[in-house]
Amino acid sequence: MTEASWDFDTLAVRAGYNPTEHNHAVNVPIYQTTAYTLETAERADAMFAFEDEDPLYTRLSNPTVDVLERRVTALHEGATASIALASGMAAVSYALLNVAGRGGHVLTNYHLYGGTIDAFSHIYPELGIAIDTVKDADDIKAYERALGPDTKAIYVESVTNPLLAVSDLEALSRLAHANDIPLIVDNTLATPFLLNPFEFGADVVVYSATKALSGHGNVIAGLVVESGRFDYGNGKFPQFSEPHWVLRDENDVPRNHLQLFPDAPFTGRLRAIHLNYLGAALSPFDAYLILLGIETLAERVTKQVANAKALLAYLKDSPHVSWINYPTTQESPYRELAEKYLPRGAGGIVSFGFAGSEGQKRRFLDSVELFSYQANIGDARSLIINPAQTTHIELTNEQRAIIELKPETIRLSLGLESPQDLIADLAQAFKKAFS
Ligand SMILES: *Cc1c(COP(=O)(O)O)cnc(C)c1O
Repeated sequence: MTEASWDFDTLAVRAGYNPTEHNHAVNVPIYQTTAYTLETAERADAMFAFEDEDPLYTRLSNPTVDVLERRVTALHEGATASIALASGMAAVSYALLNVAGRGGHVLTNYHLYGGTIDAFSHIYPELGIAIDTVKDADDIKAYERALGPDTKAIYVESVTNPLLAVSDLEALSRLAHANDIPLIVDNTLATPFLLNPFEFGADVVVYSATKALSGHGNVIAGLVVESGRFDYGNGKFPQFSEPHWVLRDENDVPRNHLQLFPDAPFTGRLRAIHLNYLGAALSPFDAYLILLGIETLAERVTKQVANAKALLAYLKDSPHVSWINYPTTQESPYRELAEKYLPRGAGGIVSFGFAGSEGQKRRFLDSVELFSYQANIGDARSLIINPAQTTHIELTNEQRAIIELKPETIRLSLGLESPQDLIADLAQAFKKAFS
């Protein structure tokens, strides 16, 4: 049996790791070391000429981090490589820098993580990257109209936070490829268990591994995964095909990233340039924590989806709830897309409108006892927050209006507790809020 024939559940606990290569250790060892001996001058030559893939320095690679990268690649059928980084924001920004430096444009919408939107208004313009934003995220024609000669990528979230919009990845990837640019997808909410964006044409997938991938609220980390299929030598991305002196061969002939990393040019260049020079390396201990989390990804997410459904049934009948967002519900405008892209469920995030005054909403938040009031998602514990006043505070009033982020929005991130206890907690908090 080989890894290639294994199912998701087997890969999640086994892929990318061979105990015989690590003193027969059953659990992945934490290689807590900065550097690795070069042994001989000859071996040093090979390593510095990229001929030997053994680790050299932990900013660039580390055996524990390497297992994580291989495992995450294995969890995405159609992926050739991954790179782990020190945060989800590093994953998003490195991925965009990799395609859109030198005055490129990125085409996106406003249904994005608050930090990503804020970065679009602040850091990218400083780096010469322009962000073009379509107002109606569901209108493929709007993306088509906004595409220009300098557009270097389409960037979307597959399932969005906090309003649970679902992106039509197949249509977006078709549009991107017709224009010789890659589709980059932030798949943090869905996780590879619920959705594999490569199945629908995505070229690059980014994650905040801080969330459901690790699942225990104990680590900050990010990942970039690639299909290896996109042709970065098509003329639009000269940064991939220009020869670099540092990538020279043993005869001092400079090479480019496409020659050096033919199966994984995107993550290859990201490691050689962005990780190497900007330096958001993941620590081996944090990689170990994420590996532990991934072992139970399918079980956790399955339970979170079941908890989301139980809470939806309760919220639907509550007089204190004015609306509910979850893509698989009857009322959701994303129902059809959810059936296509998320057959196992849309994850553990639910948002709803609090039917009461701002004061009552604040009392409600102050009164929950089991739900933890905090700015995170995907934890084993259930979390609650008022995104318009916290996680999405960066959005301007115009941006809020575009994505319909209303002030009364409450976001739940369901954990692994008993659904009865969670419902009882909301019930007692509603009671206090309206007493
Ligand atoms: C949290 C999050 C990020 C940022 O990740 P960090 O690990 O906090 O840096 C990016 N995208 C999405 C969808 C997120 O939820």
